[in-house]
Amino acid sequence: MPFTSFNFSVPLQKAIKSNNYTQPTPIQAKVIPQILNKKDIIAQAQTGSGKSAGFVLPLLELWSRDIGEGKAKIKVLVLTPTRELTQQIAQTFVSLGAFLGETSYSFARKPKVVSLIGGESIGDQLFEIQKGCDIVVATAGRFLDVVGKKQMNLSFVEYFVLDEADKMLTIGFDKELDGVLEVLPSQRQNLLFSATYPPKMQSIASRITSDVIEISVDNEQPTVAETTQRVIEVNPHNRSGLLRYLLKKEKFKQILVFMANKRATDNIARKFKKIGFSADSFHGDLDQEDRNYTLKQFKDKKLQILFTTDLVSRGLDIEDVSCVINFDLPRSPADYIHRIGRTGRAGKSGMAISFIGHDEQEHFKLIEKRSQIKLTREQIKGFELTGDAPIKERGKAPIKGKGKSKKDKLREQASL
Ligand code: AMP
Repeated sequence: MPFTSFNFSVPLQKAIKSNNYTQPTPIQAKVIPQILNKKDIIAQAQTGSGKSAGFVLPLLELWSRDIGEGKAKIKVLVLTPTRELTQQIAQTFVSLGAFLGETSYSFARKPKVVSLIGGESIGDQLFEIQKGCDIVVATAGRFLDVVGKKQMNLSFVEYFVLDEADKMLTIGFDKELDGVLEVLPSQRQNLLFSATYPPKMQSIASRITSDVIEISVDNEQPTVAETTQRVIEVNPHNRSGLLRYLLKKEKFKQILVFMANKRATDNIARKFKKIGFSADSFHGDLDQEDRNYTLKQFKDKKLQILFTTDLVSRGLDIEDVSCVINFDLPRSPADYIHRIGRTGRAGKSGMAISFIGHDEQEHFKLIEKRSQIKLTREQIKGFELTGDAPIKERGKAPIKGKGKSKKDKLREQASL
């Protein structure tokens, strides 16, 4: 199915070409016609599947057909779990809307897009809204802060998008949802995107819409299928040495290394920098300017290794990551999928390597079960796993990752 079959307006077709999109991705082929038909959808789509353009293109098409007169009014609202994803989606609206209103196609104009994120002045963001805007992309927390100031008119919203809805649930969005729905007009088109379907998602979906089409490209597994997944058994104290060994042997161009917490991220980045690697850390404690700078350095390939927490595992459009390393395992199987979705994007091949010791065996089995994969354990000469597996006691604490503790949820919230 070519892009031309959607009958997008000429300016949008031009943007598709200038972004070098030749064929719709599988998720785009499924969601675009439904969105253009004004249907409510819930789509299971992973990062790297092209889902952002999958909703941005048809929304720009619908929006540009009926812009209305006078000052711009907020017609499109997109909520996301992270600042980076917010900025990235706002940028996608700008770049795919870049040719709307070119003089030769006079029926529309470029959309005015505003992103609302924490860590930047709320006053400036309010000012941008009040100047007139068509599309708001926001993190849920900052959106509600701005709503609280009662200076944003949401009565014209026609399209509501919840992106990475499963991630939003883990940061407590279900409690904020009522506050959001309360301020939106009841007549609107709802689009939900999520990589996984925890049972809670069904109840969230039913609070948002009663008539929803479910879309899935599950069996195609676009990102995971392109990624070679490896598991290396190693003792925790040897992981850093093993990482250096792999960097030398495999000659990875750009790698993302996931750590359990912010402190570990800073410590290891410092250590690697000291021994001459091009490395830095990226996490929620850095201020927005630092985060933007580090991310740009990595995207521009001026940084080879980015040590990070789960903050960047979702949604971020970092292309060409040749390898993702799970230095520490993610807590949940869903996060595993999101982390490895950073590599093997848009058809490119990638590699994901998880380090596991005795203590992580059970947890990794759970990840394999939930992700429906079975991987062979490797050991690397010089870094072999030594010592004995811990003896299982009866009535031990539940397996890590089965659910998130209250403390973890709060911690995650604090890191956004
Ligand atoms: P996303 O899953 O939305 O984060 O998109 C992943 C990457 O795929 C982004 O760099 C997009 O620009 C790119 N992309 C989206 N749609 C297409 C397409 N039809 N063909 C090629 N690349 C695409």
